Amino acid sequence: MSDDKIILTGIRPTGSLHIGHFCGALQNNVFIQNTYDYKYMYGMIADAQALTDNFDNPDKVRNNVIEVALDMLAVGYDPEKTILFIQSEIPELTELTFYYMNLVTVARLQRNPTVKSEIEQKEKFSTGLPVGFLNYPISQAADITAFKATIVPGGDDQAPMIEQTNEIVHKFNSIYADVLKPVKIITPDSNHAARLPGIDGNAKMGKSLNNCIYLKDSADTIASRVQSMFTDPNHLRIQDPGNTKDNPVFIYLSVFAKPEHFAAFMPEYKDYSELAAHYERGGLGDVKVKKFLNNVLQETLRPIREKRELLARDSASIMEILRIGTNKARAAAAETLSEVKKAMKLDYFN
Ligand code: ATP
Ligand code: MG
Repeated sequence: MSDDKIILTGIRPTGSLHIGHFCGALQNNVFIQNTYDYKYMYGMIADAQALTDNFDNPDKVRNNVIEVALDMLAVGYDPEKTILFIQSEIPELTELTFYYMNLVTVARLQRNPTVKSEIEQKEKFSTGLPVGFLNYPISQAADITAFKATIVPGGDDQAPMIEQTNEIVHKFNSIYADVLKPVKIITPDSNHAARLPGIDGNAKMGKSLNNCIYLKDSADTIASRVQSMFTDPNHLRIQDPGNTKDNPVFIYLSVFAKPEHFAAFMPEYKDYSELAAHYERGGLGDVKVKKFLNNVLQETLRPIREKRELLARDSASIMEILRIGTNKARAAAAETLSEVKKAMKLDYFN
């Protein structure tokens, strides 16, 4: 990796972060933060984007900014390495969005598969779709290009946003001037990590879907959530062959269970594939597997929860981290905006 890389990651403050974010985004971002050679790395808390489908709940967005910041810091985001900032404090992003809106058709936005499925899932849009929500892929393009990001790590629901961003980049550069940088997505290696299902078996664990295990959950909550998990509905008796493919208990194990977890809690199996093979041929009960998953998740989440509790005692210093990061980010976005406006011949008084 060369040192001209600029990396942008983003999280919406719509709720505390969960194990889907952890394996689909956070863990990967912290790894990148600590190992890549880059010029800048940014971590955006996307409150303005969160308002596009939570405009009627300003308290939720406001309160979750600190929650999400705590989650990020607890999993290892380091403000010395990653510039953490609040999106709405950077008006340049809104301004860029406004200009990019001319470069995208309504039909193109309606075709975006992530946006499409989000619209279908949101009850509140059944009576009408706000322009702001349909527009959010453009605002995301503004976020990415404002910092000249060349890499955006994310789950597979982010791929259509990156594609949309690159279309805007190419169109802008060919009409006006070569100002914007194309961007690449990096998704986690495992398909399951790129989209972790919910405890209810829904294809995606999502903050808005009430099917999550949160990073801040207590040990008891984790245990009861694991116990209530959806498994294979056809695996009625222990001796029946079981399905591991659409079974969130096994999917979580494939993502989270490490060799040391097998050694400590399930020594009769060498690894995930031995365990899964036994379940598939029959003779392994759900209770035993869930007990193992509970142990794995407790081990994984305990240190994160403890660090989070410590950080939460001093919320003023968390806000200070965000304030400093926001100032740095704003300066970078302002520079890009002035190049953009100049390219668009909107520079009257210079
Ligand atoms: P919302 O419902 O408010 O959109 P969300 O749970 O989708 O919340 P985001 O803040 O939109 O969370 O997503 C942040 C990052 O986490 C994105 O990169 C996204 O791909 C990733 N992510 C979210 N949910 C999952 C999941 N279930 N599995 C893997 N990655 C996920
Ligand atoms: Mg989302």
